[in-house]
Amino acid sequence: MKKTIPTQTVLVTGGAGFIGSHLVEDLAERGEHVVVIDWAKESWQKQNRKCLERKKNIRFHTLDIRDKKSLLNIVVITKPSRIFHLAAESHVDKSIANPGLFLETNIRGTSVILDVATKYWQGNQRNNDFRFHYCSTDEVYGSIEQGSFHENLPLHPNNPYSASKAAGEHLVTAWSNTRGLPIIVTRSSNNYGTRQGPDKFIPLTIGRCMRRERVLLHGSGQNIRDWIHVRDHTKAIIAAADEGRLGEVYNIGAGPENEKTNQEIVELICDCVDEIREEPVGTSRNLIRFVQDRPGNDRRYSMDTAKLHHDTGWQTTIPFEIGLMETVKWYLENNDYCERNM
Ligand code: NAD
Repeated sequence: MKKTIPTQTVLVTGGAGFIGSHLVEDLAERGEHVVVIDWAKESWQKQNRKCLERKKNIRFHTLDIRDKKSLLNIVVITKPSRIFHLAAESHVDKSIANPGLFLETNIRGTSVILDVATKYWQGNQRNNDFRFHYCSTDEVYGSIEQGSFHENLPLHPNNPYSASKAAGEHLVTAWSNTRGLPIIVTRSSNNYGTRQGPDKFIPLTIGRCMRRERVLLHGSGQNIRDWIHVRDHTKAIIAAADEGRLGEVYNIGAGPENEKTNQEIVELICDCVDEIREEPVGTSRNLIRFVQDRPGNDRRYSMDTAKLHHDTGWQTTIPFEIGLMETVKWYLENNDYCERNM
C-alpha cells in the first residue's frame, strides 16, 4: 500500500531549471512546503522562477549552491525532510568548451550541499525519514550498442558533463558510506517538455523551425536517446524518494518504444510545427541540414527501469507523440521564451 505523505518541508536545488521547476510544482501541488535554491542567472530561469512564485507553498532563495554558510542557515531554519539536489551545469556542448564551470558546480557544489545536509541531519537524528536525493543521468554509463543499462554496471562517462555528474554520484555514495547520510540516487534518460532552456536540442530545434532557420543535425543523426516526458521523470523522482530503498540507485526512462534517433526527433518536431501552422507536411523538413558531429557524442543510451517499477510501482503515463505535440505547441505559444533568451 502507498504511504500517505504528511505535509512537510522539502528543499530542491536547481528549482528554476527545466526539471527542477516541474518537480517543485509537483511537490507543491501535493501540499509540501517547497524551499528552492537556484541562482537563476539566465532570463528563462528567471521566467520559470516567476511562474512558480505565483503558486502556493513555494519559497525561492536566489543563491549559489557553493555558498555553504547561507545554505546551512536556510536548511537549519526550514528543517526539510528531503533534499532533492538537481542544481547543475547541464549542457554537454558547454562542458566541452568550458569544463571548469562543470567541475565547480557539479562536483564542488555537490560536496558543499552534502556537507550541509550531513551537518543538518546529524543534528536532527530524530528526523528518521530524512533523505538526500541526487538527480543523475543515464550519460554516466557511457554508450551501449545493444541491450539496456542496468544499475550495477560500471560507470563510463565520455564527456566533461557526464564525468562531473558521475563524480557527484561518487561523492554522494562516499558521504553515505563514511558519514551515514541517507541517500537515494536516480539516473534518468533524456527529458523533454515545457520550460527547458532554449539552447537545448528540442527547444532549439523548435525555435529554429519557428523562425524558418536551418535546423541542424549533428553527424549522421543516428544517435539514439530514450526520451521521457519531464512530468513522468518528476513523478519517478518522487516515487523513488517516498518508496525507494535507502542507499539504492534507480534508473528512470521511458522504455525501448521511446528510443528515437536524433533525426527522428527533428523530423517529428518539423511535422508538429507544420501541423500546428497548417502548412503542407514536409515544409519544415526542408530546413534540416547535417553538420559535423561533436566530440565524445555517445551513440546510444537505453535504460532498464525494472528495479524502479518493482520497488515503487511507478510507470510512465505520457505517450511520446502526445507529449511532443504539447511541448511544440507550448514553445510556439510562448515564443518569447525562445526569442528573448537565445
Ligand atoms: P537545467 O540546466 O535546466 O537546470 C539546472 C538549474 O541549476 C538551473 O536553474 C541553474 O540556474 C541551477 N544552477 C546551476 N548552477 C548553480 C549554482 N552554482 N548555484 C545555484 N543554482 C545553480 O538542467 P535540467 O535539465 O533541469 O537538469 C536538472 C538535473 O537533472 C541536473 O542535475 C541534470 O544533470 C539532471 N538530468 C537532466 C536530464 C535532462 O534530460 N535534462 C536527464 C537526466 C538528468
